[in-house]
Amino acid sequence: TFVVFEGGEGAGKSTQVNALAEALRAERREVVVTREPGGTEVGQRIRALVLGKHSELSPRAEALLYAADRADHVATVVRPALTRGAVVVSDRYVDSSLAYQGAGRTLPVDEVSWLSSWATGGLRPDLVVLLDVPPEVGLARAARRGAADRLESESVSFHERVRYAFLDLAASDPKRYLVLDATRPPEEITAAVLERVGEILPE
Ligand code: C5P
Repeated sequence: TFVVFEGGEGAGKSTQVNALAEALRAERREVVVTREPGGTEVGQRIRALVLGKHSELSPRAEALLYAADRADHVATVVRPALTRGAVVVSDRYVDSSLAYQGAGRTLPVDEVSWLSSWATGGLRPDLVVLLDVPPEVGLARAARRGAADRLESESVSFHERVRYAFLDLAASDPKRYLVLDATRPPEEITAAVLERVGEILPE
Protein backbone atom coordinates (compact mmCIF):
# COMPACT_ATOMS: atom_id res chain seq x y z
CA THR A 1 0.00 0.00 0.00
CA PHE A 2 1.47 3.28 -1.14
CA VAL A 3 0.46 6.46 0.69
CA VAL A 4 1.79 9.87 -0.33
CA PHE A 5 1.62 13.20 1.54
CA GLU A 6 1.59 16.36 -0.53
CA GLY A 7 1.28 20.03 0.25
CA GLY A 8 3.01 23.37 0.21
CA GLU A 9 5.69 24.67 2.52
CA GLY A 10 4.93 24.45 6.22
CA ALA A 11 1.89 22.19 5.75
CA GLY A 12 3.16 19.81 8.44
CA LYS A 13 3.80 16.86 6.13
CA SER A 14 6.70 15.40 8.07
CA THR A 15 4.78 15.52 11.38
CA GLN A 16 1.87 13.66 9.79
CA VAL A 17 4.06 11.15 7.95
CA ASN A 18 5.70 10.24 11.25
CA ALA A 19 2.41 10.07 13.15
CA LEU A 20 0.92 7.72 10.55
CA ALA A 21 4.03 5.51 10.53
CA GLU A 22 4.01 5.27 14.33
CA ALA A 23 0.33 4.28 14.42
CA LEU A 24 0.78 1.61 11.75
CA ARG A 25 3.89 0.21 13.43
CA ALA A 26 1.90 -0.09 16.63
CA GLU A 27 -0.34 -2.46 14.61
CA ARG A 28 2.83 -4.42 13.82
CA ARG A 29 2.83 -3.49 10.16
CA GLU A 30 6.05 -2.94 8.24
CA VAL A 31 6.21 0.74 7.31
CA VAL A 32 8.81 2.39 5.09
CA VAL A 33 8.97 6.16 5.55
CA THR A 34 10.61 7.99 2.70
CA ARG A 35 10.62 11.27 0.85
CA GLU A 36 11.33 13.15 -2.37
CA PRO A 37 13.65 14.59 -3.25
CA GLY A 38 16.30 12.68 -1.31
CA GLY A 39 14.90 9.22 -0.51
CA THR A 40 18.07 7.45 -1.69
CA GLU A 41 21.80 8.08 -1.47
CA VAL A 42 21.94 9.43 -5.01
CA GLY A 43 18.70 11.26 -4.29
CA GLN A 44 20.36 13.05 -1.37
CA ARG A 45 22.94 14.40 -3.77
CA ILE A 46 20.25 15.45 -6.23
CA ARG A 47 18.40 17.14 -3.36
CA ALA A 48 21.53 19.09 -2.47
CA LEU A 49 21.83 20.10 -6.13
CA VAL A 50 18.25 21.28 -6.66
CA LEU A 51 17.79 22.92 -3.27
CA GLY A 52 21.33 24.21 -2.79
CA LYS A 53 22.53 27.71 -3.40
CA HIS A 54 23.62 28.09 -6.99
CA SER A 55 22.83 30.20 -9.98
CA GLU A 56 19.30 29.73 -11.33
CA LEU A 57 18.74 26.27 -12.76
CA SER A 58 16.69 26.17 -15.95
CA PRO A 59 13.18 24.75 -15.34
CA ARG A 60 13.72 21.80 -17.68
CA ALA A 61 17.03 20.87 -16.06
CA GLU A 62 15.37 21.10 -12.66
CA ALA A 63 12.47 18.90 -13.84
CA LEU A 64 14.91 16.27 -15.10
CA LEU A 65 16.79 16.22 -11.79
CA TYR A 66 13.55 15.69 -9.86
CA ALA A 67 12.63 12.95 -12.34
CA ALA A 68 16.03 11.26 -11.88
CA ASP A 69 15.58 11.39 -8.11
CA ARG A 70 12.11 9.83 -8.48
CA ALA A 71 13.28 7.09 -10.85
CA ASP A 72 15.99 6.02 -8.41
CA HIS A 73 13.60 6.30 -5.46
CA VAL A 74 10.90 4.14 -7.05
CA ALA A 75 13.31 1.52 -8.38
CA THR A 76 15.38 1.07 -5.23
CA VAL A 77 13.08 1.95 -2.32
CA VAL A 78 9.38 2.13 -3.15
CA ARG A 79 8.83 -0.85 -5.46
CA PRO A 80 10.93 -3.32 -3.45
CA ALA A 81 9.08 -2.34 -0.25
CA LEU A 82 5.65 -2.64 -1.90
CA THR A 83 6.64 -6.03 -3.30
CA ARG A 84 7.37 -7.33 0.20
CA GLY A 85 4.02 -6.08 1.38
CA ALA A 86 5.21 -3.06 3.37
CA VAL A 87 3.21 0.14 3.67
CA VAL A 88 5.22 2.90 1.99
CA VAL A 89 4.62 6.44 3.23
CA SER A 90 6.29 9.10 1.11
CA ASP A 91 6.68 12.79 1.83
CA ARG A 92 6.03 14.11 -1.75
CA TYR A 93 5.78 12.26 -5.07
CA VAL A 94 4.59 12.95 -8.64
CA ASP A 95 2.04 15.63 -7.71
CA SER A 96 4.84 17.82 -6.34
CA SER A 97 6.38 17.87 -9.81
CA LEU A 98 3.05 18.65 -11.45
CA ALA A 99 2.55 21.49 -8.96
CA TYR A 100 6.09 22.92 -8.63
CA GLN A 101 7.71 22.19 -12.00
CA GLY A 102 4.42 22.40 -13.90
CA ALA A 103 2.22 25.08 -12.35
CA GLY A 104 5.03 26.79 -10.42
CA ARG A 105 7.74 26.95 -13.10
CA THR A 106 5.07 26.97 -15.83
CA LEU A 107 6.33 23.94 -17.75
CA PRO A 108 3.52 22.19 -19.68
CA VAL A 109 1.85 19.98 -17.09
CA ASP A 110 1.17 17.12 -19.54
CA GLU A 111 4.89 16.96 -20.34
CA VAL A 112 5.85 16.92 -16.66
CA SER A 113 3.25 14.20 -16.14
CA TRP A 114 4.66 12.13 -18.99
CA LEU A 115 8.19 12.54 -17.63
CA SER A 116 7.06 11.37 -14.20
CA SER A 117 5.27 8.31 -15.50
CA TRP A 118 8.34 7.39 -17.49
CA ALA A 119 10.52 7.80 -14.40
CA THR A 120 8.22 5.69 -12.21
CA GLY A 121 7.19 3.10 -14.78
CA GLY A 122 3.64 4.25 -14.09
CA LEU A 123 3.55 3.55 -10.35
CA ARG A 124 0.69 5.49 -8.74
CA PRO A 125 -0.12 5.91 -5.04
CA ASP A 126 -3.16 4.22 -3.52
CA LEU A 127 -3.89 7.37 -1.54
CA VAL A 128 -2.63 10.96 -1.65
CA VAL A 129 -3.16 13.02 1.50
CA LEU A 130 -3.12 16.68 0.53
CA LEU A 131 -2.37 18.97 3.47
CA ASP A 132 -3.77 22.22 2.19
CA VAL A 133 -2.40 25.43 3.65
CA PRO A 134 -2.65 29.05 2.49
CA PRO A 135 0.86 30.21 1.46
CA GLU A 136 0.91 33.03 4.05
CA VAL A 137 0.39 30.53 6.86
CA GLY A 138 2.70 27.85 5.48
CA LEU A 139 5.52 30.23 4.62
CA ALA A 140 5.39 31.78 8.09
CA ARG A 141 5.63 28.29 9.63
CA ALA A 142 8.49 27.31 7.34
CA ALA A 143 10.33 30.55 8.11
CA ARG A 144 10.22 29.70 11.82
CA ARG A 145 12.13 26.50 11.16
CA GLY A 146 14.73 28.43 9.16
CA ALA A 147 13.86 27.66 5.54
CA ALA A 148 13.31 31.34 4.82
CA ASP A 149 16.24 31.96 2.48
CA ARG A 150 15.28 29.41 -0.09
CA LEU A 151 11.56 30.09 0.09
CA GLU A 152 11.76 33.85 -0.22
CA SER A 153 13.27 33.43 -3.67
CA GLU A 154 9.79 32.40 -4.89
CA SER A 155 6.95 34.88 -5.12
CA VAL A 156 3.68 34.47 -3.26
CA SER A 157 2.00 33.95 -6.65
CA PHE A 158 4.34 30.99 -7.28
CA HIS A 159 3.11 29.40 -4.05
CA GLU A 160 -0.50 30.23 -4.93
CA ARG A 161 -0.14 28.46 -8.28
CA VAL A 162 1.36 25.46 -6.52
CA ARG A 163 -1.49 25.37 -4.00
CA TYR A 164 -4.24 25.49 -6.62
CA ALA A 165 -2.47 22.89 -8.75
CA PHE A 166 -2.57 20.46 -5.81
CA LEU A 167 -6.25 21.24 -5.18
CA ASP A 168 -7.11 20.74 -8.87
CA LEU A 169 -5.34 17.38 -8.93
CA ALA A 170 -7.31 16.29 -5.87
CA ALA A 171 -10.60 17.47 -7.37
CA SER A 172 -9.94 15.53 -10.57
CA ASP A 173 -9.69 12.17 -8.75
CA PRO A 174 -11.53 12.42 -5.39
CA LYS A 175 -11.38 8.66 -4.67
CA ARG A 176 -7.60 8.72 -4.55
CA TYR A 177 -7.26 11.90 -2.47
CA LEU A 178 -7.90 13.03 1.08
CA VAL A 179 -7.76 16.82 1.31
CA LEU A 180 -7.30 18.19 4.81
CA ASP A 181 -7.10 21.74 6.12
CA ALA A 182 -3.54 21.91 7.45
CA THR A 183 -4.38 24.77 9.81
CA ARG A 184 -6.41 22.32 11.94
CA PRO A 185 -4.81 20.85 15.09
CA PRO A 186 -2.26 18.14 14.19
CA GLU A 187 -4.05 15.44 16.26
CA GLU A 188 -7.28 15.96 14.31
CA ILE A 189 -5.40 15.65 11.05
CA THR A 190 -3.72 12.44 12.20
CA ALA A 191 -7.09 10.96 13.19
CA ALA A 192 -8.61 11.78 9.80
CA VAL A 193 -5.62 10.25 7.99
CA LEU A 194 -5.77 7.07 10.10
CA GLU A 195 -9.45 6.63 9.42
CA ARG A 196 -8.97 6.86 5.66
CA VAL A 197 -5.83 4.74 5.57
CA GLY A 198 -7.65 2.07 7.61
CA GLU A 199 -10.13 1.74 4.75
CA ILE A 200 -7.51 0.89 2.17
CA LEU A 201 -5.12 -1.37 4.11
CA PRO A 202 -5.31 -5.13 3.69
CA GLU A 203 -6.29 -7.15 6.82
O1 C5P B 1 8.96 18.95 1.42
P1 C5P B 1 10.33 19.52 1.48
O2 C5P B 1 10.46 20.70 2.40
O3 C5P B 1 11.38 18.49 1.69
O4 C5P B 1 10.57 20.09 0.02
C1 C5P B 1 11.71 20.77 -0.31
C2 C5P B 1 11.46 21.77 -1.42
O5 C5P B 1 11.61 21.19 -2.68
C3 C5P B 1 10.12 22.39 -1.41
O6 C5P B 1 10.26 23.64 -0.83
C4 C5P B 1 9.76 22.59 -2.86
O7 C5P B 1 9.89 23.95 -3.17
C5 C5P B 1 10.82 21.84 -3.61
N1 C5P B 1 10.30 20.83 -4.53
C6 C5P B 1 10.07 21.15 -5.85
N2 C5P B 1 9.63 20.19 -6.72
C7 C5P B 1 9.40 18.93 -6.30
C8 C5P B 1 9.61 18.60 -4.96
C9 C5P B 1 10.06 19.57 -4.08
O8 C5P B 1 10.27 22.29 -6.25
N3 C5P B 1 9.00 18.02 -7.18
